Amino acid sequence: MPDILDLARTQVLERGEGLSEAGVREVLSLPDERLPEALELAHQVRMRWCGPEVEVEGIVSLKTGGCPEDCHFCSQSGVFASPVRAVWLDIPALVEAAKQTAATGATEFCIVAAVRGPDERLMRQLREGIAAIRAEVDINIAASLGMLTQAQVDELVELGVHRYNHNLETARSYFPQVVTTHTWEERWQTLRMVRDAGMEVCCGGILGLGESLAQRAEFAAQLAELDPHEVPLNFLNPRPGTPLADRPTMDAKDALRAIAAFRLALPRTILRFAGGREITLGDLGTRDGLLGGINAVIVGNYLTTLGRPAGADLALLSELKMPVKALSATL
Ligand code: SF4
Repeated sequence: MPDILDLARTQVLERGEGLSEAGVREVLSLPDERLPEALELAHQVRMRWCGPEVEVEGIVSLKTGGCPEDCHFCSQSGVFASPVRAVWLDIPALVEAAKQTAATGATEFCIVAAVRGPDERLMRQLREGIAAIRAEVDINIAASLGMLTQAQVDELVELGVHRYNHNLETARSYFPQVVTTHTWEERWQTLRMVRDAGMEVCCGGILGLGESLAQRAEFAAQLAELDPHEVPLNFLNPRPGTPLADRPTMDAKDALRAIAAFRLALPRTILRFAGGREITLGDLGTRDGLLGGINAVIVGNYLTTLGRPAGADLALLSELKMPVKALSATL
């Protein structure tokens, strides 16, 4: 049998075809001494099929906390005794956040709400918020509002939301261990509607929830089947009060192996560093990830925890000679 990285060099780097589930599993199982080689190959794949640009995105939470769902990793669930309580952001604050995001050079501004799916109040806030942002800020608007109906998908398209984020979170076979109030298939259905409506699909998940390496590979294969425009990769940052509060954070080398493996499964997607990277990888890991297949970052704060300051990320990108993707290139 050919060595998995040799196979990836021909199949992924030269032909742009992602690794199969079995191939991803092999990369996830590589010994530590082969990790630098895997990361280097993932970086070459990213440079060849995506280019050097890095997409920078800001996110803001329109409604934080008090969600009726029970995703075991999430401090915004109202089901657990976690300290995040339901809070709504007002429109001026939303516009200000969009302005600050644009000032960092980011091209994407994602409006997020901790809900099962939007109700009429949320849709109204969103309509008003998007109109107010458009009047003052030049930036792409993305949204992440949970599961949608077809009518809501259609309305988001009309509002000019060009990308929708909805994470599958983990492998289909592991999802019932993590969420009991809705199914993986319900999430999949929203993603299909979003894609069929012509919006860009942003779909990723969280690694380190207790899934096996085989399930991590299964998840990569399921994402490859969906073929999203962008995949945010989170690493579990165990939050107090949630059922996963005592789970250890993922081993940094496992996290880097996963970054390389997901890039080799998804050669053309935007692979974004999302939450939990500081606690899992630290500063050095951020650099390793950016040189190991990652090509998008979130600037500033995440939804419920503090991220690295925007300036630190932007300085690192400039040091690595990775240009920030310009807005005009995305329109
Ligand atoms: S992940 Fe989303 S749906 Fe699940 S509890 Fe958190 S906010 Fe609610």
